[in-house]
Amino acid sequence: MDSPASSINKELLQKYNTAGPRYTSYPTAPVWQDSYDAQAHELTIRQTNQGANPHPLSLYAHLPFCEQRCLFCGCNVVITKQRDQAEKYLGYLFKEMETIAAWMDRSRPVVQFHWGGGTPTYLSEEQMERLFKFQTSLFQLAPDAEVAIEVDPRVTTPEQLTVLKELGFNRISLGVQDFNPQVQEAIHRVQPLDMTTHMVKHCRALGFEGLNFDLIYGLPFQTVERFTQTVQEVIALSPDRIALYSYAHVPWLSPHQTQIPEDALPETETKFRILQIALQLLTEAGYLYIGMDHFAKPQDELGQALQKGTLHRNFMGYTVQKGHLPSDLYGFGVSAISGLQGHFAQNWRKLSQYYEALDNDRIPVMRGYVLSDEDKLRQQVILAILCQGRIEYSEINNRFGIDFKAHFADSLHQLEAPAQDGLVELNEHHLVLTPVGRMFSRNIAMPFDAYLPKLSGDKPTFSKTV
Ligand code: SF4
Repeated sequence: MDSPASSINKELLQKYNTAGPRYTSYPTAPVWQDSYDAQAHELTIRQTNQGANPHPLSLYAHLPFCEQRCLFCGCNVVITKQRDQAEKYLGYLFKEMETIAAWMDRSRPVVQFHWGGGTPTYLSEEQMERLFKFQTSLFQLAPDAEVAIEVDPRVTTPEQLTVLKELGFNRISLGVQDFNPQVQEAIHRVQPLDMTTHMVKHCRALGFEGLNFDLIYGLPFQTVERFTQTVQEVIALSPDRIALYSYAHVPWLSPHQTQIPEDALPETETKFRILQIALQLLTEAGYLYIGMDHFAKPQDELGQALQKGTLHRNFMGYTVQKGHLPSDLYGFGVSAISGLQGHFAQNWRKLSQYYEALDNDRIPVMRGYVLSDEDKLRQQVILAILCQGRIEYSEINNRFGIDFKAHFADSLHQLEAPAQDGLVELNEHHLVLTPVGRMFSRNIAMPFDAYLPKLSGDKPTFSKTV
């Protein structure tokens, strides 16, 4: 079977490999405003929890500590070997959760529960147990909730995995990136294949239902041959979901990336050939291409959601929408992001600022955003492109009371070139991404982003689409 990537030539790649948002939110974070502060967010939480709110809950807790910095990493992390820092942090995290929970309707079911980082397993077994029990004393997990954690195979012990399983975690996400030793050394993350294999076997023996792998292409010293081998090794380990991210080399945003030897980074064309071969191998092995950078086995919930049209996208990437409505996402911890029906909020990014807000009995909101009706319309259009790969104009017209073709005449005009290039089919009634177009879904979404033209400066705010 030919993968869509095999029909992409160099010309197409050069044309569409532009800087663009990943749209884990619309409007994107650079548009958010300082004027949306702790007080504004408290009001939003209280208002969206008045009366019966049919939206279920997603909870995210950010655990920022790591022992060492991996050079490719763009996450908000705190590098320290001082374990007592984690204990201090937990005290603040509990305070934040307790304060916010007091304003909420706590009978709302939690359908998605996630610990991310950083390295969540930086916490000891006792700390993990205490945090989980605290959270589940405040909120109620739905019986079919996805309870997920990101783990680093280099620091996670079998005892920690046993505790996680006993607590009720059912999905483990493993950072893998690349199995090639030279690549691993260049990114300061030495994690031999044996180590990951051992962890996978252990997770399976314990009965975790879902295993995710995170891979990255575009890293230093990667070649088509080397990454082919990595992907073959990944396929042999058979994770249920695979995220295949493009390495974003943005040293002006992440200064530690200056330690990455730029001349060892693959050229754009090589990088794309690496992506092509990975796509081909994964689809031949039976994985479904979910969108942008995600793959899943057809029987996995995400694969099922793609087939049923219930795919959603939020700050955690592609997710499964359970029930009729998307969930309200509450993010806790330093730099965490929340998204509650037309409102976004982000916590302070530095530990000192996060602590200071809570010391002053304020929730630690740094900035946020209230969506206008026009934002909500564009958000829906962008989500439909990224998750369903199509827009039926009549559905949008009925829901938002507009004439799609008139309202988005300029956006549709911008899509004429991608249509000629075979990325999207446009007709009187709908817009449908072709299989090749789904690989460039960000490019198809970008003409509907009202803020993008105002965000371009000297240094790109966003990474390239490939
Ligand atoms: S990749 Fe993971 S372990 Fe490495 S610095 Fe980033 S968050 Fe920490």
